[in-house]
Amino acid sequence: MHSDHHLPSILKQCVAILLSSATSIHKLKQVHAFSIRHGVSLNNPDMGKHLLFTLVSFSAPMSYAHNIFNQIRNPRIFTWNTMIRGFAESQNPKPAIDIHRNMRILAVEPDTHTYPFLLKAIAKLIAVREGEGVHSIATKNGFGLSVFVQNGLVHMYAACGRAESAHKLFEEMSDRNLVSWNSMINGFVSNGKSIETLTLYREMGEEGVEPDGFTLVSLLTACAELGALALGTRVHAYMFKVGLAENVHAANSVLDLYAKTGNISEAQKVFDEMKEKSVVSWTTLIVGLAMNGFGNEAIDLFKKLERKQLTPNEITFVGVLYACSHCGMVDEGFTYFKRMKEEFGIEPRIEHHGCMVDLLGRSGRIQQAYDYILAMPLQPNAVVWRTLLGSCTMHGHSALAEVARAQLIQLEPKHSGDYVLLSNLYASEKRWSDVSKVRERMLDQGIQKSPGHSLVELGNCVYQFVMGDTSHPESEDIYAKLIEITKLLRLEGYVPHVANVLADIEEEEKETALLYHNEKIAIAFMLIKTPPGTPIRVVKNLRVCADCHIAIKLISKVYKREIVVRDRSRFHHFKDGSCSCKDYW
Ligand code: ZN
Ligand code: ZN
Repeated sequence: MHSDHHLPSILKQCVAILLSSATSIHKLKQVHAFSIRHGVSLNNPDMGKHLLFTLVSFSAPMSYAHNIFNQIRNPRIFTWNTMIRGFAESQNPKPAIDIHRNMRILAVEPDTHTYPFLLKAIAKLIAVREGEGVHSIATKNGFGLSVFVQNGLVHMYAACGRAESAHKLFEEMSDRNLVSWNSMINGFVSNGKSIETLTLYREMGEEGVEPDGFTLVSLLTACAELGALALGTRVHAYMFKVGLAENVHAANSVLDLYAKTGNISEAQKVFDEMKEKSVVSWTTLIVGLAMNGFGNEAIDLFKKLERKQLTPNEITFVGVLYACSHCGMVDEGFTYFKRMKEEFGIEPRIEHHGCMVDLLGRSGRIQQAYDYILAMPLQPNAVVWRTLLGSCTMHGHSALAEVARAQLIQLEPKHSGDYVLLSNLYASEKRWSDVSKVRERMLDQGIQKSPGHSLVELGNCVYQFVMGDTSHPESEDIYAKLIEITKLLRLEGYVPHVANVLADIEEEEKETALLYHNEKIAIAFMLIKTPPGTPIRVVKNLRVCADCHIAIKLISKVYKREIVVRDRSRFHHFKDGSCSCKDYW
């Protein structure tokens, strides 16, 4: 057996050159085999370091890399870091934590590169306890002020759902680079903190930091959530200017922005002009069309995707099934569901089953929907039962509504929306004593309605209105406008939908005045603030109530405005006195 000390150093150099010039994992393995054959041991730190680094850079299977790592005697910090990085970037990041633990047991000195990858692994695992531990170890070892480590910590806390901790750390950083800003902006977006995202983006501009593609993609996501079309459009224009508009990820977020703000023709245009389209692009537009009430167009686009022989994913099918359900295409829905499994090998998830329950329930086949739930291979969750409860309400099926609600009480006893749905059902059957019983039970159990709000964008700002809102400096004008609106609507035959006043405790608390629902306030504000003919876009966090729906239809006619309302589950495009949902939502 040779020892590498006796080998001609030329052979060792050969192996080193081969290692660093290998262009595939296959080549690497050949070099590995060659070195074994010629007795060039890779178990010395220098050789092993090259091999491992190249392996990890090629995303080789980590089991192979780990095997080599185990053969290296006294690996140096570079090699330990390479292993942590390899695991952090793999599908199974957990061993990165074990590698770090062994490193500490063997008292290997960490360096600045150790923590960022370790934190990345922890972020992927959503292991905040582990992360806090590493935070204090890194601080103890004197890396607490390293910008790389701090960036890693910001990302880790945000990924673990601790946006506040991340932000606190971010605020304390003395030396912030673009990655720091991106980590925090993305951290806010992924935690649903869209308004904070816009604020932070503004601060970034004030500090003179130029955004890059990552920043803009996060920003577009926040704009899409808030319905901030004007800001989103400016971001889109900026992307053109800096040459990012062609990037497929960036273009997909632009597409998503237009789809989520109800600007479906613009979304279609972006899609058509994309030189490179991924399955995400197709899926975004399919889901966008379906949610905006263009079910047939969504199905047509899916057929086109098939003709291009692209492979749809599970989200594509959520869009397709949603489209079938909202267009009343029950048979087609079942056909697509079957094909999803059999042709594309996608195992239906609870979301897909939920779509099927909705498909049946929406079309009035309530009993079949219930039978479907009972026969489902997955345990039905609250969303599935709520879908059934929703269709019972829609079609006035109180027996199965009780069944669904009994399940919901077990699964999510504190969900206010379920009480609302049930009370709506009782109200439609004029069972007023049952309505008040539901309300009492809500009070007894201390169930708070999730507060309703509407968002509108004007100029550089997103304005939020809640019910009976008087916080706005111009609220006097707004309320005067509301009274004017009501007068004009009455001339058009508007009668407030009183049944809903009793039942709709979702948006109503004690007030009975439908006039003060937040979407009406938001629309009145926009009627004052924007020139005639400007479309109005409202984003609402709850479902729009029947009275507001009637009122907004008439406002679109009387004031000749196109009004787009995105509520919790779909879009309403109001124009000339009617709505794209055909009064069915
Ligand atoms: Zn309302
Ligand atoms: Zn509608």
